[in-house]
Amino acid sequence: MRISIDLERCEGHGRCYSLAPALVEPDDIGNGCVVGDGNVPPDQMDNARQAEANCPERAVILEEQD
Ligand code: SF4
Repeated sequence: MRISIDLERCEGHGRCYSLAPALVEPDDIGNGCVVGDGNVPPDQMDNARQAEANCPERAVILEEQD
């Protein structure tokens, strides 16, 4: 699974990096910024889903990979 942030939608509420701090960090204006290449390790799957489900702007995108 891969996580990304749609910066056109992100309004900086910060729920993503509160819920999934290993995957997303705040940038200098508080918007979500993916850590590294966005690859979600197995032990971070639940946090990734929580971040997706709790973003008020629907800006957290999860994509399944082969
Ligand atoms: S929760 Fe959504 S709107 Fe808030 S910082 Fe994260 S991606 Fe942006």
